[in-house]
Amino acid sequence: MSRTVYVNGHYIPEEEAKISIFDRGFLFADGVYEVTSVLNGKLIDFEGHAKRLERSLNELDMDHPVNTEELLSIHRELVSRNNIEEGLVYLQVTRGVADRDFAYPKSASPTLVMFTQAKPGLSNSPQAQTGIKVISIPDMRWDRRDIKTVQLLYPSMGKMMAKAKGADDAWMIEDGFVTEGTSNNAYIVKNSKIITRQVGHEILNGITRRAVLRFAAEQNIDIEERPFTIEEALEADEAFITSATTFVTPVIEIDGTVIGNGQPGSTATALRSIYLEESLKAAI
Ligand code: PMP
Repeated sequence: MSRTVYVNGHYIPEEEAKISIFDRGFLFADGVYEVTSVLNGKLIDFEGHAKRLERSLNELDMDHPVNTEELLSIHRELVSRNNIEEGLVYLQVTRGVADRDFAYPKSASPTLVMFTQAKPGLSNSPQAQTGIKVISIPDMRWDRRDIKTVQLLYPSMGKMMAKAKGADDAWMIEDGFVTEGTSNNAYIVKNSKIITRQVGHEILNGITRRAVLRFAAEQNIDIEERPFTIEEALEADEAFITSATTFVTPVIEIDGTVIGNGQPGSTATALRSIYLEESLKAAI
């Protein structure tokens, strides 16, 4: 069934959606994106995603195509027109269309594209029950991972490297320490304490990360924000990831070594259910 998508002010059937071959998103990966999950037909943490989008645009001196209010109404319109109960809304802003030149164009208007993906069962995925397996790979991305750009080729390669080894995802290593997963933030739990890398230019400041750490603090779980190594992770009691579409998902194996007892850990499991419950309450 054809979706209704959004392109620069217009709601159109997906087959009719067109972007110029001169769009800088296409030519230079000169664009940023956000993914907001939808549960029970409502947006999870829309405000967090809208704020991070604003920050990404500012960091790249890119114009804002619409204000937050308009952005919310486009999200809602797409969710409603496509009858999304569980799924996501993807949005991408690029610097716009201009003749190919490395220098930013002086007068291009940003391109805004949005579409939905239905994901029935998103809140109760098999991976949440079984946990996932990850491998470690070098982090070969650029140094501004805090900006959510569409330069996703290396993360795609990382997923393929993981698949080739029979794993689900990869954790990336820089200077001996884990930065994050290819499309998620990474955590370990040792002696009931959550350890996760502090935010900075090295990782994306996950919207789910922030919420999960807040809920963990409310549960009086200790949190240490610092880099950790794969060796430390292998000795951990638990490991897990967070992202807008995986929420909290346990990691049960790293580089072929079983973590803890090889089952989803109790901290990850509890945080997942708190996260889902609280996010649903706050969903708009
Ligand atoms: N790190 C990276 C590299 C990501 O791509 C993502 C998801 N887009 C995350 C972390 C998690 O961020 P969020 O919780 O906002 O989805």
